[in-house]
Amino acid sequence: MTIEQDYIASHAGSAPLYARASKVLPSGVTHDGRFLRPFPIYVERASGSRKWDVDGHEYIDYIMGHGALLLGHSHPAVTEAVVRQASRGTHYGASHEREIEWAEEIIRLVPSAEVVRFTSSGTEATLMALRLARAATGRPSLLKFERHFHGWHDWVVPGSSYAHESPGITQATIDGVINAPVDMAAVREIIAGREDIGTIIIEASGASSGTFPLPRGFLQELRAFTRDRGLVMIMDEVVTGFRWSPGGVQSQEGVVPDLTTLAKIMAGGLPGGAVAGRRDLLERLEFPEPGSKREKVGHPGTFNANPLSAAAGVACLRTIGDGEVQARANALAARLRTGMNEVLTRLSIPGCVYGQVSEFKVVIGPDFVPGARDWDPRDVWPGIPGQSAPGDWVRVLSLAMLNRGVHTWNGPSGFVSGVHTESDIDQTVAAFEGSLLALRAEGTLPVMPKHEQRGATSAKRVQSNRSRERE
Ligand code: PLP
Repeated sequence: MTIEQDYIASHAGSAPLYARASKVLPSGVTHDGRFLRPFPIYVERASGSRKWDVDGHEYIDYIMGHGALLLGHSHPAVTEAVVRQASRGTHYGASHEREIEWAEEIIRLVPSAEVVRFTSSGTEATLMALRLARAATGRPSLLKFERHFHGWHDWVVPGSSYAHESPGITQATIDGVINAPVDMAAVREIIAGREDIGTIIIEASGASSGTFPLPRGFLQELRAFTRDRGLVMIMDEVVTGFRWSPGGVQSQEGVVPDLTTLAKIMAGGLPGGAVAGRRDLLERLEFPEPGSKREKVGHPGTFNANPLSAAAGVACLRTIGDGEVQARANALAARLRTGMNEVLTRLSIPGCVYGQVSEFKVVIGPDFVPGARDWDPRDVWPGIPGQSAPGDWVRVLSLAMLNRGVHTWNGPSGFVSGVHTESDIDQTVAAFEGSLLALRAEGTLPVMPKHEQRGATSAKRVQSNRSRERE
């Protein structure tokens, strides 16, 4: 039996649900990233680091609510807050105290946050941040970075890693979005030639949640440049906020942007997002005094600061504010990356498992020595291939991992939470080894050209950067 046949045979409950879904949902899914051939798993319940599908399989979960669940599934503090709130009403259509507490928690933790405006998602947060920036600068266009992902609204899709060719976006919008490489000389040159650019937005981790990390010092340089040139700098911390540290990348790196976009962990696993930042920028949302000619930036939104999300968000942020949960998740992720790298070494598969803090990414391809160490990817900039060797085998690896009770993003990649255990990690490493052996046995793994030469270069680059740092 092949890996795929095994998957189909053991997921007899998910298959008909997918057939039913395909009649009413495009491609049967509700998020592009959840699409999986022949069909995805259908989950019935989740708790802590685990979830269970309709076929009764138990999975160690590394999707973790697309990175929202730093506290794992149904954390008692969050669940209790949500249940209590649900019994008191789920939508008041009116102001409530939880939204104030929520904003206060964000301001307490995030250095750039002087004031907060809530949205329902990260996409809405970047949409609003860009509008605020345009309103402040009067300049319509924006500079973003190649492959950087900021959600799915029209202004951030051009050049993003997931949907760069999406039809349905007007040429006028595409013309207003300039994608720059992560290179300050290129940024300076673009800005020198484009008076119409007033805003720079950047994923704080580097593109695709750190798949292509930023070189050390880049955020600091960008901050100095945007300040000098009167450009609004938006740091997108939708993924990194509260994960990289309680105050996100900005508190770790000592870089205070003008505006920060937040979502995911911020809302404790429920829908929610926010723009936080300089008071004078967010003041554009304020109602003008009677008789004033000042124009207000409009912002309705039925579910802004929804009481359930606010209750979950406050409970979550209070639980993770001291950094202990992050430290635990980081240590577990380091154990996972190390263990998986050891598997690559044992099996002589050229590849690497890397990641910052509590995330991990697997790249398999000829550009690495087998099982390169768990280095900080910022040390080898720009030596990250980011993507594995092309082929269907990445999908099959995901199926093989699911067959062994591990749910990751295709790649594989994922997020470790503060409630995973060492035993979860060790089981995952074993599942990774078993999966790769199964792929090799059925001939699905790509044939890698000899890696010694290029692998040695990568390894050397890590080494020389480390020596430079010590000097
Ligand atoms: N910005 C970044 C960096 C993201 O990773 C995401 C989603 O993954 C978004 C924005 C969009 O957030 P949402 O999916 O809540 O709309």
